[in-house]
Amino acid sequence: MSDLRDLYQEVIFDHNRNPRNFGKLDQPTHQAQGVNPLCGDELAVYLSLDENERITAVHFEGRGCAISTASASIMTETLKGLSLEQADSYFRAFHAMATGETPAQTAGLDLSKLEVLSGVRDYPARVKCATLAWHTMQSALHSHGEQVTTE
Ligand code: ZN
Repeated sequence: MSDLRDLYQEVIFDHNRNPRNFGKLDQPTHQAQGVNPLCGDELAVYLSLDENERITAVHFEGRGCAISTASASIMTETLKGLSLEQADSYFRAFHAMATGETPAQTAGLDLSKLEVLSGVRDYPARVKCATLAWHTMQSALHSHGEQVTTE
C-alpha cells in the first residue's frame, strides 16, 4: 500500500508544482471565488460553456496548500469537454470519495485521476482543501458565482 501512497504523493506534488490550466480565462461564462479560512486556501474557478452547455475550458488561479492546488488542477483536467450534468456527477462522486461516504452513481465516470486525493478522507481538515475547488466550480455553474467559504 505504501508504494501506492508514494505514487499518490508524487502526483499531488507534481500538480502543485506545475498546476494545469492555471491563470485567468479570457471571457469566462461562469466564475466564482472560494476560500478555506482554516487553511488559508483561496482560489477562483473560471469556466467557459458553449451554446450546448458543454464545458469548453476550465481554469483556476489562486494560492493555497498542495492539496487544494493539486485538487483544482486535477479538476480542470477532469471537467474539460463535459456536459453540465456530467460535471455534477463528477462533483458528487469526488465529494463522496473525499469524505468517505458511499459513492453515488459512478457508472461511466473515470475516477482514476481523482483517486490520488482519496487519502484526505482520513484527515477531516484536509477534506476542505481537496473539495474547495469543486464547491467553487458548483457555485460558478449553479449559484451565480456566489463566493464559497468552507466555514
Ligand atoms: Zn489547504
